[in-house]
Amino acid sequence: EHEHVLMDETGMRRALTRIAHEILEKNKGFENCMLIGVRTRGIYLARRIAERIMEIENVPVPIGEIDVTRYRDDRSGRPEHTKEDAAPAMDIHNKKLILFDDVLYTGRTVRAAMDALMDLGRPQMIQLGVLVDRGHRELPIRPDYIGKNIPTSRLESIEVLLQEVDGMDQVVITQQ
Ligand code: 5GP
Ligand code: MG
Repeated sequence: EHEHVLMDETGMRRALTRIAHEILEKNKGFENCMLIGVRTRGIYLARRIAERIMEIENVPVPIGEIDVTRYRDDRSGRPEHTKEDAAPAMDIHNKKLILFDDVLYTGRTVRAAMDALMDLGRPQMIQLGVLVDRGHRELPIRPDYIGKNIPTSRLESIEVLLQEVDGMDQVVITQQ
């Protein structure tokens, strides 16, 4: 098995700082915006971006979480997980939501996340950010903010290690 480091701690810090600036530029500040982290690692990334935005803009940054692990449309059987479990009550009405995940692949997780969010209310807009876009989309979904584009083969997989969960910050590509 081959391993190749695509992003180290410094690279990740710079990418997240850039994305914080891009979010502020696109939305002309953070008014009426809310960051939504997707399940495990997207939540930690969203928290880091929220910290950056607070440092840069000195405004409060509302943040929420969503867990669609067992809620994708390609899992067979009855979902054990309801939409209510996926997205705990958040006031998203008329807000600009910025969904954030670690890796974007087919787009099915993002679709499920949008579906669960739309059930909670009517956001004004949903934007998408990811640390890594590895390609192979199966749905018409494209991120607004990208840490790094990493074209992969389906045999390759991206490992995103985060300090909060893994004790280090690193993005690695592995080949089976
Ligand atoms: P999708 O639903 O777009 O096919 O896959 C995206 C979801 O699966 C994300 O929540 C992401 O965490 C996970 N995922 C898909 N491919 C990879 C990968 O190569 N590496 C990692 N770390 N996560 C992946
Ligand atoms: Mg994930």
